[in-house]
Amino acid sequence: MKPDNLLPSGIPLRTELYIDGCWRAAEAGRRLCVVNPSTEQKIAEVAAADAADVDCAVQAAALALRSWKNTTGAARAALLRAIARGVEARRAHLAALQSLNNGKPLAEAQTDVGDVIATFDYYADLADSMDQTGPSSVAIPSSDYHAQISREPAGVVALIVPWNFPMVTTAWKLAPALAAGCTVVLKPSEITPLPELELAAILEQAGVPRGVVNVLTGTGTEVGAPLVAHPLVAKVSFTGSTAVGAQVMKTAADTIKGVGLELGGKSAIIVFADADLELAADLVAAGGFFNAGQMCSATSRVLVERPVADELVARLAQRVTQIVVGDPFAAGVQMGPLTNRGQYERVQRFIAQGKAAGARLVIEGSAPAGPGYFVKPTLFVDVPSDSVLWREEIFGPVLCVRSFDTEEEAVRVANDTEFGLVATVVTEDAARGSRVARELEAGVVWINAPQLIFPQTSWGGYKRSSIGRELGPFGLAAFPEIKQILMPNRHTPAAQRIGCP
Ligand code: NAD
Repeated sequence: MKPDNLLPSGIPLRTELYIDGCWRAAEAGRRLCVVNPSTEQKIAEVAAADAADVDCAVQAAALALRSWKNTTGAARAALLRAIARGVEARRAHLAALQSLNNGKPLAEAQTDVGDVIATFDYYADLADSMDQTGPSSVAIPSSDYHAQISREPAGVVALIVPWNFPMVTTAWKLAPALAAGCTVVLKPSEITPLPELELAAILEQAGVPRGVVNVLTGTGTEVGAPLVAHPLVAKVSFTGSTAVGAQVMKTAADTIKGVGLELGGKSAIIVFADADLELAADLVAAGGFFNAGQMCSATSRVLVERPVADELVARLAQRVTQIVVGDPFAAGVQMGPLTNRGQYERVQRFIAQGKAAGARLVIEGSAPAGPGYFVKPTLFVDVPSDSVLWREEIFGPVLCVRSFDTEEEAVRVANDTEFGLVATVVTEDAARGSRVARELEAGVVWINAPQLIFPQTSWGGYKRSSIGRELGPFGLAAFPEIKQILMPNRHTPAAQRIGCP
């Protein structure tokens, strides 16, 4: 596969930093290599920023804030819609870039691009409604004074995203940040910077004023850490691993910044004996193998009620053997490679540890031998509940199954994790579905449904999976500051107001 052939002619591959409305090399002139995970070949070299570039980008965002924060909701909405239309116009190119850089099958990449468009359109609608809402009066127990509450942009915000859903995780932060009137320094993953650089080009064409959005490619230590530490950054919105999220929080503490964190997961799917087992097998397979299992929301812990356990495992095994793993651009391919070598090696270690811990390997699917970071979809049963396979986020195409005997046991085992991002319940008993959903410590619960996420709803989890929520009005609420203004009523004499005798 020749990457160059995939880039439609006339649209250059962006490889520089986007700061203050200009494309420029990193100050130190350094570059980093971007690799195609299907071939292990270099796709491009992009600028590798460091603390000096971070400072330039933050200063540009701080300057741009002066006018951007005073724009109307309607003006921001118009820009957000222009971005959505720009993404739409380059749908095919963006999907190809996603598949090339991340390794996901083209159909999945197209779904991601659709999600990005829907997110910008949704926050355009919310931005529009801001002009109507304005400052709101608050009823207070005083006839002398009246109080108003208004929401104002927090300032320059740092948005830091991972490599598993490039552009989607970005859109979930960028659209509400712009709607709220903040200016942005965005740091994509060093592993998948190409889609975000293309998005920057779309923002530029859509007419986003210079400095309002700045995009810095580079590593976590050289860009992410100084960005979080920068004194002019007001808030940080981070999606990534729990370990790095904790580091971000510690760094942000030095300058007392607010943080929004979307971190790891180890989610459960619970299949009751009354479930439609064909549906259950489809939901389990999708929850484990979509995006090659590289999902924070992967439902990689499968809990099945004992009477139907063998039947479900048999259906899963059949699906595992049928998954076509290969070149994400090839017709019929359902699963691509993992996105980078580090993740590939990590997943192989988990599989070896699972075998050593006594988990029963039911079946491994097939995958190309390489080059490329291809991993066979893998199904374990009887996975010990204290094994790393059961307890840690694998972030690869590995499903672990355990049986349960009672509803109470299923809920207890599902909740027995430090994470709490999502869960799925499969049952034909509607009352049980609702009851179990209420008991689960998870920010999102799907009942008999695939992992659909609508921008109008919410995203985020309990425990170590998240701080805050993205999407819906909650995603917007992350970016403004709240201001109270208290004033005397005109009829109240000054002496009375300040309490003079
Ligand atoms: P990661 O934590 O290694 O990196 C995420 C981002 O943080 C990257 O841009 C990286 O360069 C940057 N970074 C690294 N060190 C930093 C530091 N010290 N300061 C600031 N930034 C730093 O995560 P990853 O491997 O890219 O992504 C996989 C993880 O992301 C998984 O744990 C997954 O569950 C999680 N994730 C969560 C969600 C969610 O919505 N909860 C969504 C997608 C991915």
